Amino acid sequence: MYDIIIVGAGPAGLTAAIYARRAQKSVLVLEAKSYGGQIINTLDIENYPVEEHISGFDFATKLYKQTKALGAEIVFEKVVDINDLGNTKEVVTTKNKYSCKAVIIATGSEDRKLGLSNEDELVGKGISYCATCDGAFYKGKTVAVVGGGNTALEDALYLSDIASKVYLIHRRDEFRAEETTVEQLKKKENVEFIYNSTVTKLNASERLESIEVTNKDGSVRTIEVNGLFVAVGRIPENQNFAKLIELDNAGYVKAGEDCKTTCKGIFTAGDNRIKEVRQLVTATGDGAVAATNAVKYINNL
Ligand code: NAP
Repeated sequence: MYDIIIVGAGPAGLTAAIYARRAQKSVLVLEAKSYGGQIINTLDIENYPVEEHISGFDFATKLYKQTKALGAEIVFEKVVDINDLGNTKEVVTTKNKYSCKAVIIATGSEDRKLGLSNEDELVGKGISYCATCDGAFYKGKTVAVVGGGNTALEDALYLSDIASKVYLIHRRDEFRAEETTVEQLKKKENVEFIYNSTVTKLNASERLESIEVTNKDGSVRTIEVNGLFVAVGRIPENQNFAKLIELDNAGYVKAGEDCKTTCKGIFTAGDNRIKEVRQLVTATGDGAVAATNAVKYINNL
């Protein structure tokens, strides 16, 4: 029986573990993939207080080591269910069942796909969801980036220094991304903006060879590319908990700044809850709040 089980070893989950351990609670962190969450794919973090520059990998590794040093157990198993047994919760993974007094769900989010028929089979053969992971494979080649948020624009900026040509394809003519990033990208001579358009077909034999891009006016253009970087947002990974806690229509956990879900003893932290600003600093902030409230809850049982 653990005091607190934390689902997810990203910045939110690991920060929650630090706060819970410092409050002398026993902590198990369960993670389906690798520690660090999505920040591990960020090349350079410049907006986290104290560190002027740090890579996502270094940040995540430092956080992981700090959490372990404080005595949290971290086990790599995928959580598939949580059962509410009143004062006890049962956390079910693909391999084991664990019991605890409180759970913090910090599962973050996964890449949204375009939904094209051969998209999955072309991952690693021209399709990528992570420019900083795969960009180096496209040195001197032609690539396209889809999306209009910060990720897409930053990816395009990053790729413009590696690839010979970058197409930025966005379904509208206005961006969600910060204006400064948009302006930076507009100054790049090897970047071509394609507005009001979506990728409607992936043409490939062994690898991706070209993409079909359809404009809102119905016109269709085929563009030869070696790589397509998809950056069309993320989907919260809460599907396994929908029977236990309330989610909004987009699948985010209904929880406010106190990180309390609609189920007593179940808390949430990070990108998978409804919030305005999804940043590293707000994820770690959530971790602290969720753990503090989980500790209070346990102490009052
Ligand atoms: P996002 O802000 O949700 O943007 C997703 C983009 O993809 C939008 O422009 C959206 O178009 C487009 N899109 C969605 N579904 C699509 C589809 N099926 N086909 C084509 N286009 C589609 O996602 P994000 O850029 O990954 O950013 C996520 C969060 O992380 C944001 O809060 C962002 O600010 C933050 N972030 C911050 C930084 C930073 O501070 N340096 C870096 C990266 C991300 P519409 O605009 O038309 O909806």
